[in-house]
Amino acid sequence: KLAFTPIAASASLLFSKLPHSCPFLFSPSLPQIKIQNPSELLRKHVIDWPWLPPLEPRWLPWRRLVRMVATTGVVLRSRGNNSCNKSWTGKLAWENKTLQPRHTKKVFCMYVQQASKSKCKVAIKPLELENTKEPPLNLYKPKGPYTASIVSVERIVGPKAPGETCHIVIDHGGNVPYWEGQSYGVIPPGENPKKPGAPNTVRLYSIASTRYGDSFDGRTASLCVRRAVYYDPETGKEDPSKKGICSNFLCDSKPGDKIQITGPSGKIMLLPEDDPNATHIMIGTGTGVAPFRGYLRRMFMEDVSSFKFGGLAWLFLGVANTDSLLYDEEFTNYLQQYPENFRYDKALSREQKNKSGGKMYVQDKIEEYSDEIFKLLDDGAHIYFCGLKGMMPGIQDTLKRVAEQRGESWHQKLSQLKKNKQWHVEVY
Ligand code: FAD
Repeated sequence: KLAFTPIAASASLLFSKLPHSCPFLFSPSLPQIKIQNPSELLRKHVIDWPWLPPLEPRWLPWRRLVRMVATTGVVLRSRGNNSCNKSWTGKLAWENKTLQPRHTKKVFCMYVQQASKSKCKVAIKPLELENTKEPPLNLYKPKGPYTASIVSVERIVGPKAPGETCHIVIDHGGNVPYWEGQSYGVIPPGENPKKPGAPNTVRLYSIASTRYGDSFDGRTASLCVRRAVYYDPETGKEDPSKKGICSNFLCDSKPGDKIQITGPSGKIMLLPEDDPNATHIMIGTGTGVAPFRGYLRRMFMEDVSSFKFGGLAWLFLGVANTDSLLYDEEFTNYLQQYPENFRYDKALSREQKNKSGGKMYVQDKIEEYSDEIFKLLDDGAHIYFCGLKGMMPGIQDTLKRVAEQRGESWHQKLSQLKKNKQWHVEVY
């Protein structure tokens, strides 16, 4: 018999029967895990128990959970929110995870929250942010940053990706609200190497979550950070003394670590929501996908009463190879669920060839679909670019060439797009 106290619950039964959609609130920074509605959890997901009395939300000690997992040998991975129309926040789901070869022990780990496999959105308790006409701006400045804490840091690229990119969830306690497309500033600890005695300067990071955060409660923000490393041009060897300060601080941080943040900042990449049926063409390279992940979660993952998206979102993502793809599972799920509203094209420079036999970059994909893109722009589509600065010249050249082939002046077209506020660029 299974009596629901965490101690009495049979670990093996509990975990062996947990389906993918088992919801509970989990934060690795907390020593405990909160089960919001134990009765429903048990009734729905563990055992059919109609006579189960209502149970209060309760905290399951984190260490015990880890012990239970260790004993039962179950390795769980967050897999997103599969339960529809529940008013709970902070729901995560789990699935068996194949072990990475480098792990000698089975671990309980959190993974980037994934979209629901079924076509149902997560019910959201609207934040006041939905009612404001202007986004929050610079609530915290470099001289008075907000001290937030790290919830989780997770490598989100495969072993064959050149370099490391991490998904970092930050708990701001609801105190540093933002809109999709904005950025946070991060002040890494320590002294500015260029100005001894002065603190390090702020580095900006695009926010990769919606205003509700990955746990849907408006208390977290997620960043997508690539670790900056330095290779000596002569020896080709990595020189750790010249590694990027802030990105390494972020990628090395641990749950519970404190982090100084500023912002939110930026208005260029805000998602225009006046027309819910508009077309949004998003062109990102690497971590430039961050704001687009936020847009797409708002469009396809969250059920927000003030924004019911019925338009077209078209993402072009450029990375080196399949292992470097970011949030691919999430985007692929949208593709399956909303084929009428979402298009997703990948340019894998080290794996695919363009039509001239060269490396496949996002501009090659743009060229492939240029007729459609130009038509959508003529019809008022928004176009966004985000990623490394170096992506823009190639893209601009391609757009110019295509415009000329169509007998149009790119110069005029571009100024018209800018004038109409259809053109949004954030490159770094
Ligand atoms: P820094 O310490 O600032 O060093 C910069 C570079 O110089 C590094 O590559 C480092 O290896 C190199 N370097 C250090 N010392 C030497 C030396 N002596 N000689 C030669 N080279 C040296 N980044 C993301 O990863 N994700 C984002 O979403 C993101 N969004 C951004 C949004 C905006 C609006 C902007 C402006 C930038 C964004 N960035 C983003 C970039 C980010 O702000 C940082 O610039 C980046 O993380 C590098 O910062 P760092 O502190 O790690 O490197």
